[in-house]
Amino acid sequence: MRLAFFAAAIIALWVSSAFAQDTAVEEAAHRAEVLAHLPHDAAELLFGREATPAPGPPEAIGTYERGCLEGAAALPADGPNWQVMRPSRDRAWGHPMLIALIERLAQKLPAEAGWPGLLVGDIAQPRGGPMLTGHGSHQIGLDADIWLTPMPPRRLSAVERDEISAMDVVAADRMDIDTATWTPQHRRLLEAVAREPGLARIFVNAAIKRALCREAGPDRAWMAKIRPWWGHNYHFHIRLSCPSGDALCRAQTPPPPGDGCGKELDWWFTEEALHPPPSPPRKPLRLADLPQACAGLVTAAGQALHIPGGAR
Ligand SMILES: [Zn+2]
Repeated sequence: MRLAFFAAAIIALWVSSAFAQDTAVEEAAHRAEVLAHLPHDAAELLFGREATPAPGPPEAIGTYERGCLEGAAALPADGPNWQVMRPSRDRAWGHPMLIALIERLAQKLPAEAGWPGLLVGDIAQPRGGPMLTGHGSHQIGLDADIWLTPMPPRRLSAVERDEISAMDVVAADRMDIDTATWTPQHRRLLEAVAREPGLARIFVNAAIKRALCREAGPDRAWMAKIRPWWGHNYHFHIRLSCPSGDALCRAQTPPPPGDGCGKELDWWFTEEALHPPPSPPRKPLRLADLPQACAGLVTAAGQALHIPGGAR
């Protein structure tokens, strides 16, 4: 039963993680492949062609895996201590609360964690919703991927942002971190982010969780939010709780208390978890699969698809 649950979940996050690293060319190839098979009324198409945020007050609508976003804000491509990666995907949109959190974190991390700044991966589309490629979640503007590569001390060019690879901090056998790339600053970074009050969960590779279990100090309450998941060896995924006042946002059950370092973690290093059976391709979503309010955020099927423009 546990396996059946995870089989569905793998589609949501494991697959997304495999593609999170894709260069612009690889991303375009995946996009073309998906487009060739999608029905014309697929929600992925309807949300994928929206180029601007839905006007109105910010509101996360639905669940992280089935929803949309009103009143999104864009994370600027450059800030004092951050740079947006893979800009040609145009996925730096999010709930203003998440955007503000990323900006605040980026500013305090050099002093608090010895982390020079954030390389920010996918957040969400301008109106959230399901995406043509990659993620099962990231639909309501409360999820963001952050690279495990420290920000370099210079501004990357648009081409570099679309092409360079992130740093893998997990060993090839997936049993532990790679001591050649993992640093004490990685632990300090994840701890500083996990201590943020609005944070619901952080997804990391199980090997990273294993390292944190070893390296965390006696005050371990923050560890509850660090959740092992497939992939997430090049980036970690932060997820905010539903903002209070977003009445249509559907929260996820909070993670169980405790540091999560016991038996629950051991399972991730079993054969069943390390080498799961291949998942069937993700089924396209229809507007009817999303909360009713999401239908109002997209224009009807049959119009030209918005392909995000060149690197910005
Ligand atoms: Zn993610």
